[in-house]
Order: sequence, then structure tokens, then C-alpha cells
Amino acid sequence: TYDVPESNVDVLIVGAGPAGLMMATWMAKCGINARIVDKRGTKIFNGQADGLQCRTLEIFDSLGFGHRVWRESNHMLEICLWNPDEKGIIRRGDRIPDTIPGISRFQQVVLHQGRIERYFLDELKGCSDLEVERGVVPVELTIDVSNVENVGACPVTVKLRHLSEEEATPKQSATSANGQAVQDGLFRSNLTADDTAELLKVTQLSSKADTEEIVHAKYVLGADGAHSWVRGQIGLRLEGDSTDYIWGVLDIVPITDFPDIRMRCAIHSANAGSVMVIPRENKLVRLYIQLTTTEKIGEGGSKADRSKISPQVILESAQRIMAPYKITYRKLDWWTAYQIGQRVGTKFSVHERVFLAGDAVHTHSPKAGQGMNVSMQDTFNLGWKIASVVKGISSRSILKTYQSERRRIAQDLIEFDRKFSRLFSGRPAKDVMDAEGISMDEFKKAFEKGNMFASGIAVDYGASMIVAKRGDTSDQGDGTDVSVKDPKLRVVSDQSLAAGIEVGKRMPSVKVLNQSDARPWHFQELLPSNGRWRVVVFPGDILKSDQKKKLGEVGKAFESADSFLHRFTPGGGAFNEVFEIFAVHMAPRQSVTIFDFPSVFRHYDEVDGYDYSKIYADDASYHEGFGKMYETFGISDKGCIVILRPDQYVSYVGPMEDTAAVNSFFETFMLPQSHRNEPPAVGR
Ligand code: FAD
Repeated sequence: TYDVPESNVDVLIVGAGPAGLMMATWMAKCGINARIVDKRGTKIFNGQADGLQCRTLEIFDSLGFGHRVWRESNHMLEICLWNPDEKGIIRRGDRIPDTIPGISRFQQVVLHQGRIERYFLDELKGCSDLEVERGVVPVELTIDVSNVENVGACPVTVKLRHLSEEEATPKQSATSANGQAVQDGLFRSNLTADDTAELLKVTQLSSKADTEEIVHAKYVLGADGAHSWVRGQIGLRLEGDSTDYIWGVLDIVPITDFPDIRMRCAIHSANAGSVMVIPRENKLVRLYIQLTTTEKIGEGGSKADRSKISPQVILESAQRIMAPYKITYRKLDWWTAYQIGQRVGTKFSVHERVFLAGDAVHTHSPKAGQGMNVSMQDTFNLGWKIASVVKGISSRSILKTYQSERRRIAQDLIEFDRKFSRLFSGRPAKDVMDAEGISMDEFKKAFEKGNMFASGIAVDYGASMIVAKRGDTSDQGDGTDVSVKDPKLRVVSDQSLAAGIEVGKRMPSVKVLNQSDARPWHFQELLPSNGRWRVVVFPGDILKSDQKKKLGEVGKAFESADSFLHRFTPGGGAFNEVFEIFAVHMAPRQSVTIFDFPSVFRHYDEVDGYDYSKIYADDASYHEGFGKMYETFGISDKGCIVILRPDQYVSYVGPMEDTAAVNSFFETFMLPQSHRNEPPAVGR
């Protein structure tokens, strides 16, 4: 036995890469007692992942730092496709928009992972005292299985070891370019043996009594990357293949006569392979090149010999592909090489107590710029759910939807990546008879189609207790049952009332005007990530007496003592603690006031007066156009009620008359709150 300090925590996060930091940010925003540890002594500074999808920018915006990324990043607007002509010389064959116009208020941008991690850290500092504890590794993890369904218990015990600074610093290989030391990403690459075991061995030798501690956690997240130690401890594994594609990545300031170097380009040469050009911030350009297969480089072994790959080898490859154009550099910012496995976890959690996210549960090629995005979106999906369970607002049953929702995304991603890799890496067809070559027409079509997937906007979560749409909820293909058990509580949306607000997808956005002060807002800006559910009533034109009457009925139902609002909001807490109630109407803004709306939409507080931030008009603004929300999203003039999850995904669309369905929806997974004091005051 040993005498080590013991403590309890609600959520322990292992790994402070993009997935872990997203989780930590949710915990901070929702006021959850959490810790985040990372084996590294420092964050990464440059290189690594760089592409940000428009959905990721929407998420960053909801977390409060989207504008920083938008300003600092390089915006990618156009993709140029270069192919060999009949003489085998590369020519620009086509141009397509990088982000499909109209799908989001943001477009795809690039900024390196180090900056993105920095924004997360700044945001954490700004809203909590949660800090990444660096140089800390877990060494033991046990789960008290008899206690996993006991809501308040801390059934996961983790022993943590604190490393010395030397132990926690990754060893850099001594690459030098023009006499300058260059950071590389090899210590994180899968071409290098993982050093966790080595780090542990060193610390065992010098083990000091005060360098270990025991943490009892309610929930643990393994966001510890592709080699995931947590995954190994809980006995989960990745399934799929380790492909023989090896990729070289070079971040340089190029000196070149290639005319499209500031565009995103896919260049297929006749015989020398292909390169993806990604224009970056600070005049940097990233070149992704498929070098060769393992057999050739690794002499028959399955792991490649990375000592044969250098920035020079990658550059020479690029020069062959891009000839007759010339390309070289004086400044090299970062480089790496890695072999791609296309794998996905069989399960994403055990007992819904220990979860895996990010590279720990899916790995694939970097070309479509998905890794970091999908990893962050995993924990963006999970964070609010765990917070809601820890706070006693939701039952543990919602935690199953993490796997049912995210595993399918990971599988889609791997499938997309397989197809895209083959098309990208193959030799272009010489003509229509060249069956082994890749048709450039097919490539362009795949690219265009892939762009919708790659934007992150296409994500469409399946039916479950938190997504009220038709579909078989009991069989998710992986044994996860996320169905509504009580048939009386099963509600199904009526999508025809708002065809463009698709149940299962994220809430789309156009501008609406604040009823009280006429300021235009993008609707998504009204949905910051703070853990709250939103119930949005679209009453249509409230100058029409039948619509006004229906709105009055909705107000009465929401205000009644047996409504979801009363039953699931903790007594004595803030009126808005769990739900925010919005109205977006289509009467001319100047013809109504907030007092034409029931009091539930303009909550009154003795000290702060009325809430002016919940009623909006779908009307023309003075300076920023007319969003036409009803028209754009096909919202019926009969009106409707929409329920949005805390991560902005649409849970339900139904008629204004059916307020009982709204109650039933929440009743399936929310826990009635004991009203210690008075029920939350609804207002005047
Ligand atoms: P990671 O970013 O890997 O973070 C895991 C964290 O956990 C690290 O900070 C690590 O130090 C820590 N950790 C690991 N083990 C332990 C342990 N036992 N105890 C404590 N802490 C631990 N994606 C793209 O979209 N575009 C790209 O260009 C691109 N390039 C890449 C280049 C390389 C070399 C690699 C390896 C990946 C690249 N990716 C790219 C993928 C992208 O970086 C990942 O998808 C993304 O970083 C995944 O985030 P994550 O948080 O899941 O894992």
C-alpha cells in the first residue's frame, strides 16, 4: 500500500489536443467540476492539422472565439483542379468554390492546430479556473462496475503520475533547413513508436512519493490521440485497415512560378503522383504528397522507415509533380510524414462512464482536412450531455446517444476518406478506355460531393430520445438502444411545417431583427453554447387573430405548473437555467411590440426588468438586408414550435397546437426537479 492523496472530480479528461480541449470548454461553460491532464509539458506550437470546416467555425462562434479564428486564418475560396493534358503537361482543368455557397455564414479556412489550441486555452481562462495540467499521465484505471448506474457515484478510479519537465518534453529529431532548426511532427506521428511506455518507465525508476495521486471520477474521457492509453485500459480497439499510403507534409513559404499557389489545388501529374496545395496564413503553403507505398519505402515491412523521408525528399516529389513549373523554398516552418490507417472504434464508451473521442476512436487520411474537425465535434456532441447528467437535469440514458450519433459519423468519414484517397492518389486516366486510371471527371464530381460532407453541415443525427423523427431507434447497428421506451411519450416531428429546419441537422441561420431595438442578428448568434435547450416558437403573422390566439395558448401552456419549463427547471434557480424560450414572428416589426407576446417570451425580473432578447421579427433591416427566415426555411404561415439541443441540432418540429408533445419530448429524458423554493417565476 502507498500513501497517496485522493480526490473526487466529476469529469477527468485525458489529453489536451483539440478533442480534450473542446470537452474542457463545455465543462467550463456549464460550470462542471473537471480536470484535464496531458502527458506533454507544452502545447504544440505549429504544424499539425490546419483546415477548419464551416461547421467548426459556427461552433467556435458559439463558444465565443470564432471571430479570432476568422480574422487570423487564411480563407480558402476556390479550388483549382490541375490535370495532365494529352501531351502529359499539367493544366488547370477546372475551378470550383471551396465551400458550397449559401450553406453557412462561414467558409472553410486554415489555421494551424497550435493557434486553435491557444484559443481554447484563452477561452478556458476567461470563463473558469480550469487549466491543463501538463506533464501528467494516468497509470492505472479501474471501474467499479457495480456502481456505474448509481448516478451520483464516482465509479472510475484513475491513478495519475506527475512527470518531471524533462520527461514531459517530446524529443525532436534534429532537422535543419538552411541552418535553422525546424520543428517536426514526428513525435506525434504514427511512424514513430509511441513513447508513453518509455515515459512511464523513466518515472518508475525515479518514483517519488509525492508524484502520484488517485482521482475518483464520475466520468472519464480518453481524448489521448491515436495511440490512446485509455482505449487500451478499457479494452476497446479500432477496426479497419492500415493502408500502405505514406504522406509527406511540408509547410513552406514557396518560391514558385506556379500561378495558383494561393488557391487550394489538387494537382494530378501524368506519372509522378499527385499533390494537394493548401494556402495558409503568413504566406505559408502546405503541400500534401503521397510519397509511395510501404513496400517500396519500408522494404517489405508494414511500418515504413521514416529515416528515408526528409523535407528534401518531399520537395523533390513536389517538383516532379508540378513540373514544368518550378517550386522551392528558403523558409521551412514544419514538416512531417505519416502512414494512414483507416480505422474506427468498435465502441465509443464502456458503461457510459469512460468515453473515447477524436483520434482515439477514428483515424484516416488528412487530405480532406477532417481529423481535427471531427475530433472536436465528437466532444462538442458529448460535453453538454455529460454536463446535463452531472447537474441532475437529464437521466443517464441520453449518454448512449453519443455513440449512436458519433460512431456513424466516424464510419461515414472513413468511407469518404477511402473513396477520396483512391481518387486522389490514383494515376489520371489517359482516355476513356484507360480503366485503371482515375477519371478526372469522376474526381471532380467526388470533390464537389465531398465538399458538402467535408463542410460538416451535412451531419444528420438519427432518431433517438433527443431527435424526434421517424426511424428505427432501437437498432443503431451497434447494440445501442436510444429509443423512447414509453409509447405514450413518443413524439414525431412534422417536418412539413418547416422543411428547411431539418430534424437531426444543425439549425440553419439567416438574419432576424430584435423586436425591441431593431438590431439584426444571425439566428445562430442567439444560440451560444452554454448548455441550455431552446424552444423556438414561430407564430407566423400575429396580426392575424387566429395566429395571435394560438400564440396565447402556447404561452399559457408553457407557463402552466405542469409544463416542461416548471417541471425541469430547478426551483430557486434562474428562469433560463435549462430552457430559453424564443419567438420569431413575421408581422411587420413596427406594427407590434413585445407586449403583444405572452410573458414567457419576455421574462420579468424584479431587479432587471423585462428580458428584451427573446422576441425577433422576420423583417427587413436598415443596413443588413432581409433574412426572410420563413421563406428561406419553408416555415408554414400556420406557425410551428421548434426544439433545439444545446449543441444547436434540431430535435423537433411540430404544430403550435401540440404543446403536449413538447412536454412529452422532455419528459423522456429529463428529471423532474424538486422545487425547494418557489417554481421559477414566469413573469407578468
Ligand atoms: P491529439 O491531437 O493527438 O491529442 C491527443 C493529446 O493527448 C496530446 O496532447 C497528447 O500529448 C495527449 N496524450 C496522449 N497520450 C496521453 C497519455 N497517455 N496521457 C496523457 N496525455 C496523453 N488533421 C487534419 O485535419 N489536417 C492535417 O493536416 C493533419 N495533419 C496531421 C499530421 C500528423 C503528424 C498527425 C499525427 C495528425 C494529423 N492530423 C491532421 C490529424 C489531427 O491532428 C488529429 O485528427 C487531431 O489532432 C485529433 O485530435 P485529438 O484531440 O483527438 O488528438
